[in-house]
Amino acid sequence: MSRPALEVADIFRDHGAAWRRANAGHVSLDQMKVMSAIERCRTVALGGHVARCEGCAHTVIAYNSCRNRHCPKCQGAAARDWLRAREAELLPVGYFHLVFTLPSLIADIVPGGGISADGSRWVSCWSRFFLPVRVLSRLFRRLFLQMLSAAHAADRLKFQGDRAGLADQAAFAAFLAPLRKSEWVVYAKEPFAGPKAVLAYLARYTHRVAISNRRLVAANEKGVTFKWKDYRIEGPGRYKIMTLPTREFIRRFLIHVLPNGLHRIRHYGLFANGNRSTNIARARQLLAMPPHVTEPETDAPSEPNQPRMLPTPCPCCGGRMIIIEVFVRCEPKHRPKTTVPAIRIDTS
Ligand SMILES: [Zn+2]
Ligand SMILES: [Zn+2]
Repeated sequence: MSRPALEVADIFRDHGAAWRRANAGHVSLDQMKVMSAIERCRTVALGGHVARCEGCAHTVIAYNSCRNRHCPKCQGAAARDWLRAREAELLPVGYFHLVFTLPSLIADIVPGGGISADGSRWVSCWSRFFLPVRVLSRLFRRLFLQMLSAAHAADRLKFQGDRAGLADQAAFAAFLAPLRKSEWVVYAKEPFAGPKAVLAYLARYTHRVAISNRRLVAANEKGVTFKWKDYRIEGPGRYKIMTLPTREFIRRFLIHVLPNGLHRIRHYGLFANGNRSTNIARARQLLAMPPHVTEPETDAPSEPNQPRMLPTPCPCCGGRMIIIEVFVRCEPKHRPKTTVPAIRIDTS
C-alpha cells in the first residue's frame, strides 16, 4: 500500500493547534474558520457514510468534505461544480468575453477600499447586436467613478501611506478629475473557442487556493518543501523547489484567506443571483431549448423502500454499492483541539 500523498490538511492537523497558540490574538475569525474546515475535511468530524457491495461485500467508509473555498482538497471539486452549473446555463446564442481594465492610478488605491468592482469582470450578452466598445468604455468609466465618489462620501474608503491625503473630499475630487478625461480600456471579443472555453478558464482562474496539494513535496523537521513556478524565467528552469519553516508556511497560506462575504465572482443582468433560474428558464423557453434536468449525485430511490446507493459501482466486482450506514457531523462545542485520524477515501 502506498502512503497517501502529503496534503495541506496534514500540515494543519500536525501544527495548526500549536500555531494558533503561538499567534493567539493575531488570527482573524475567517482564518480560524478556514483552518478548522481544512483540519476537519473528510474526517469523521464532518460525518459520512458506509457503503457495502451487494455482490462481494467490499466496504468503503467515506467522510464528507468541508466545501470551504480555501480548502485545497475541495477547491478542485468546487471549480468543477461551478463549471458544470454555468455550462448548464449556456444559451444557444453568441457570447462575448469582456475585460475591463482599471487605470493604474485607481488600481493602486482600490485594494484598500470597499468597492467590489474587480478589474476583470465578465459580462455576457445575448443579442446579436452589441454596444460598441467605446460606448461601453465611457459607461464603465462614468459608473465606476460615480460609485467610487459615493463610497468616498460614505466614508467606506481607507487611504494609507502616501495616499493618506486623499481622505479629504476636495483632494479626492481633484485626484479623480483627470481620470474622467482619460480613455479606459475595455476589451470585447467573441471567444475563439466558444463560451465553454472561457468558462473553463474562469473556473480555473477564480477557484485557485494559496497552494494546491500536488505542489507539496515534504513536511518534516526542516519545514514544508514545495514546488513553485518562477514566472520571470522562461523554459524548464522556471520550476523550483522552496522550503519554508512550517510556521511561515501556515502564515503565508492564511494571508490568502479572503474576508467572509467577499466574492470573486459576481453575476449580472440575466444571471443576477435573485432571478437567475427564472430568467434562464424564460430564456430557454424563448429560444425553444429543452428544459435543463440536473442529475442527482447519489441515485435517489425510485421506490420508497429501495436502498440508497453510491453513484459509482464496486471497484472489485462492479456490483451496486448500497449505503448501509450514515453518520452525521459532530458539531464541536469549541473548535477541535485534537485531530481525528482519518481513513480517507478520495471520492473526488
Ligand atoms: Zn475540504
Ligand atoms: Zn463488489
